[in-house]
Amino acid sequence: MDERVRILDGSCEELKERMVAWGEPPYRADQIWRWLLRAGETDPARMTDLPSSVRARLAAETILNPLTPLTEVVSRDRLARKVLFALADGQTIEAVLMLYDRRRTVCISTQAGCGMGCLFCATGLSGFARNLTPGEIVAQVLHFARWLRDPEAGGRDAAPIPRPTTITNVVVMGMGEPLANYQATWQALRMLTDPQGFGLGARHITLSTVGLVPGIDRMAAEPLQVGLAVSLHAPTDELRDQLVPINRRYPLASLLAACHRYVARTRRRITFEYALMHGINDEVAQARQLADLLHGLLCHVNLIPLNPVEGSPFQPSSPARTRAFLE
Ligand code: SF4
Repeated sequence: MDERVRILDGSCEELKERMVAWGEPPYRADQIWRWLLRAGETDPARMTDLPSSVRARLAAETILNPLTPLTEVVSRDRLARKVLFALADGQTIEAVLMLYDRRRTVCISTQAGCGMGCLFCATGLSGFARNLTPGEIVAQVLHFARWLRDPEAGGRDAAPIPRPTTITNVVVMGMGEPLANYQATWQALRMLTDPQGFGLGARHITLSTVGLVPGIDRMAAEPLQVGLAVSLHAPTDELRDQLVPINRRYPLASLLAACHRYVARTRRRITFEYALMHGINDEVAQARQLADLLHGLLCHVNLIPLNPVEGSPFQPSSPARTRAFLE
């Protein structure tokens, strides 16, 4: 087993204690923290303001980057790139950088696999492996932050928009259910929003859940103003029980009650995600049911074209059905 300390799984305070134990002044931890979270630098050899003895110990005794990029897929318009990362135990996860609308958004994963079993989702069909650690979650953002800053990074010169250099938004919508890995996810979000850490505004982060009611209530009480998105995908329990099995534990009445409590407490608008599936949830009558369900709630509905999964019977709605549903 790898005994090295995973620095990003701890706090800057814990790193200070480590520095003192190494016979170094505590401010060394601030320097290392800045290198990791501000500069995205994970190679101790390049942490030029540290004494060589500290750099050597960091290299030998710690893990500064828990992710190994394996493959990268770039969209045809070059505005999205998806990276597959290997974790130390051989599990794999994905994260995506999207360069749309002047935003530099990273979509991150919080679990390897997912136990929620949504029928239309490739991750759900592959099952749950394990929760990610805070460092494994944060490192996905740092990977792309580094890529944006590096003038030599692969393909940079080919993107048809002015070169962005910082991440502007994070969406917690990749593999896994973030509220089922609550503690690690929120520790990661605190590192990403800490002015001494990555320094991203909490309002620039959106967390998407499939509807874990206790997690939504817990999130409503968090001081960080992170946005909430709920993957709804069906306007009735009958249909949602099939598409999103967690609905059997938290049916629509209890989910919507939690959403009302969330809005009452935070005064923030919720986004409901609705992936349109041909002949399944895209009838005009279902659009009316959806409107009735959400009536009176401070919210916004995001209609998403379904991403078809190989071998799955679920197909995206046609443009005509999508238009009719929207109208
Ligand atoms: Fe897929 Fe999200 Fe459902 Fe998990 S919760 S199975 S990742 S859609």
